[in-house]
Amino acid sequence: MIKAIVGANWGDEGKGKITDCLASKSDIVVRFQGGSNAGHTIINDYGKFALHQLPSGVFCKNITNVIGNGVALSVENLEQEIKMLKEAGIPSPTLLISDRAQIVMPYHKLFDIYEEERLFSKKFGSTKSGIAPFYADKAAKIGIQTSQLFGNENDLREKLQNILSIKNTLLKYLYKKPEIKLDEIFEKLMHYKNVLRPYIKDTTGFMYDAVKSGKNILLEGQLGALKDMDFGIYPMVTSSNTIAGYGAVGAGVPPYEIKEIITVVKAYSSAVGAGDFVTEIFGEEAEKMRRRGGDCGEYGATTGRPRRMGWLDLVATRYGCKVQGATSIAFTVLDALGYLDEIKVCTGYEIEGQITKDFPAPYKLKYAKPIYETLPGWKCDISNIKNYSDLPQECKNYIEFTENYINVPIKMISNGPSRNNIIYR
Ligand code: GDP
Ligand code: MG
Repeated sequence: MIKAIVGANWGDEGKGKITDCLASKSDIVVRFQGGSNAGHTIINDYGKFALHQLPSGVFCKNITNVIGNGVALSVENLEQEIKMLKEAGIPSPTLLISDRAQIVMPYHKLFDIYEEERLFSKKFGSTKSGIAPFYADKAAKIGIQTSQLFGNENDLREKLQNILSIKNTLLKYLYKKPEIKLDEIFEKLMHYKNVLRPYIKDTTGFMYDAVKSGKNILLEGQLGALKDMDFGIYPMVTSSNTIAGYGAVGAGVPPYEIKEIITVVKAYSSAVGAGDFVTEIFGEEAEKMRRRGGDCGEYGATTGRPRRMGWLDLVATRYGCKVQGATSIAFTVLDALGYLDEIKVCTGYEIEGQITKDFPAPYKLKYAKPIYETLPGWKCDISNIKNYSDLPQECKNYIEFTENYINVPIKMISNGPSRNNIIYR
């Protein structure tokens, strides 16, 4: 059976933690999209880790971790993360990388940096990991699949030559930057080939057999529905599809086999990068929440930059759950709200005099003003609670209010960053 774990919001909802919680009952964990531009924080018996490229199943001995064909593969980050696990004494994980996954090339990172420089005040707030140039090249059919590293070297050189003629024209005339030499890129690819050699596999065949033989498979999404290239707040989105439906493509499994879509919703909002954010709060109010959020404040797992903060936006979240096709919700970081006397929840937008509960087309978002309802806070630490019935009534009200609005059952409640801070309902 296949379950997907995906985000309803702007990312950083706690998908890594939820994946880690559910991984022990799974045979296979698959990353199906995105690259090392976002981080999943995992805190377990081995310590605290920020995973960017590896699937969150790498801490469980019996799991096969798969990097699917839909992923933007940074070999450098992969190498670093494998080293990090080794140094922490974690048994070497079983890892398979699709022979169709494409490689984030050194020039993708450069173009990401140069383009943000060129856009200057209009920049996207990219993590500069090369993701947009990577997916642009994939669509333009000038990407390099991992399997190609193991093919004929002259064919690869010829392909690179053609790619570099395009890249160097842009570098010279648009960005006014040094051109790239074929030999340098080729050498780098030969290094990548050595790093990847133990892991490359026809994962399409592997996944087909795994599904047929009834293995328990988790598809692990990166970022959230509102950063999806089609359904998110375009153009302030990531350059891949973050929705569970894309899991069928990016992991290479039949769409009808994805039986459960566990959509992770954070009890308040956070976002990184530019883009409209209707329930955003600022100043001291934001700082108080930021300090208490996540495992040690809401700071990016990849970049360390402070995340933008806001109240729970049910208009955006309900939409996020819809486009994900949520079958249940994992509601996370509820413990962080224990300091508040009252908690605001956005239940509608006012856009040019009209009130709506439906998330609008992205261009309208900058005119949207939040309509809030205020719920009482619970004013205590809930992180040690293990049963739903033991939660304070105000906390249960907050959970049930959210559930009724979204109309999807909240089956998991995460009340702390560790693997054991979890309440099943
Ligand atoms: P992901 O990208 O969706 O995997 O989420 P991140 O790991 O980037 O961000 C979530 C943050 O919240 C991390 O710092 C987690 O350690 C932390 N976290 C996850 N669940 C909880 C929770 O229930 N309570 C608290 N306090 N922190 C949590
Ligand atoms: Mg994250």
